[in-house]
Amino acid sequence: MALVNSKKMFEQAYKNGYAIGAFNVNNMEIVQGITEACKEANAPVILQVSKGARAYANHTYLVKLVEAAVAECPEIPIVLHLDHGPDFETCKSCIDGGFTSVMIDGSHLPFEENIELTKKVVEYAHARGVTVEGELGTLAGIEDDVKVEHGAESYTKPEEVIEFVTRTGVDSLAIAIGTSHGAYKFKPEQCTRNEEGILVPPALRFDILEAVSEKLPGFPIVLHGSSSVPQEYVKMVNENGGKMPDAIGVPEEQLRKAAGLSVCKINIDSDLRLAMTGTIRKFFNEKPDKFDPREYLKPARANIKEIVKHKLINVLGCAGKADECK
Ligand SMILES: [Zn+2]
Repeated sequence: MALVNSKKMFEQAYKNGYAIGAFNVNNMEIVQGITEACKEANAPVILQVSKGARAYANHTYLVKLVEAAVAECPEIPIVLHLDHGPDFETCKSCIDGGFTSVMIDGSHLPFEENIELTKKVVEYAHARGVTVEGELGTLAGIEDDVKVEHGAESYTKPEEVIEFVTRTGVDSLAIAIGTSHGAYKFKPEQCTRNEEGILVPPALRFDILEAVSEKLPGFPIVLHGSSSVPQEYVKMVNENGGKMPDAIGVPEEQLRKAAGLSVCKINIDSDLRLAMTGTIRKFFNEKPDKFDPREYLKPARANIKEIVKHKLINVLGCAGKADECK
């Protein structure tokens, strides 16, 4: 099937208590690892591209890689989504260039300006069958050009969501309930430590999620910055020449809980980066004589596939849901 927008996926995800995985793509191995996992698990998927990915790989290459995945996986619905669209022009260029969903991130703007910008993108997108994600509230952390210091983040205000959604016409809304971008989601002083010395992060603000959902029944909510930063990969990185002390993510049980509520899209990027980097570091460390990129990219791609499969089955709950999302 051709690329789809996110409408049907979110309707089904909301109704049936699961979330769609939104995974960032930057190159061929990442696209293949993700979509092979989704094909095997019969799961719908959102492949998302950030401004940084477009700058790295070039818009045309990314679109063609995703089109290749669509041809290779005709049995699963795939959305091509712009992650953190910074302005109207970038959204327009992606909509004109084949994307089926875009995010316009006006979360750093004053409320009225965020509404104005988001509404403009929605009008352009909806006229072309493209769905739009908006954002209210600010996440801490680093993602490409989006950088917010810990302490400068702000939770979504539930009293603002009805007005924002009604006036903009957005199809989904990213909210801030304590998730964060990157592999260092919480400062050590925000956490406790378990007996192995591993940081234990503070819980997500489910009270805010519930207050938002009460105001917007049936409306799909999005969580950004929702990698769990698996400690086995942090260890693999650190044992093979890397240096990522105190890297920490959102516990998977909390994401599973959110997926059962109104959260219909969960963004996962750092976990795939860690799987890829840990695998390649280990390969280089163990086989210093090797220099064929295919030899180290192959296990890296296999581990991306494995971690995505785990997310689909154990965290998102969307395995086996491809058919109902078509
Ligand atoms: Zn994000």
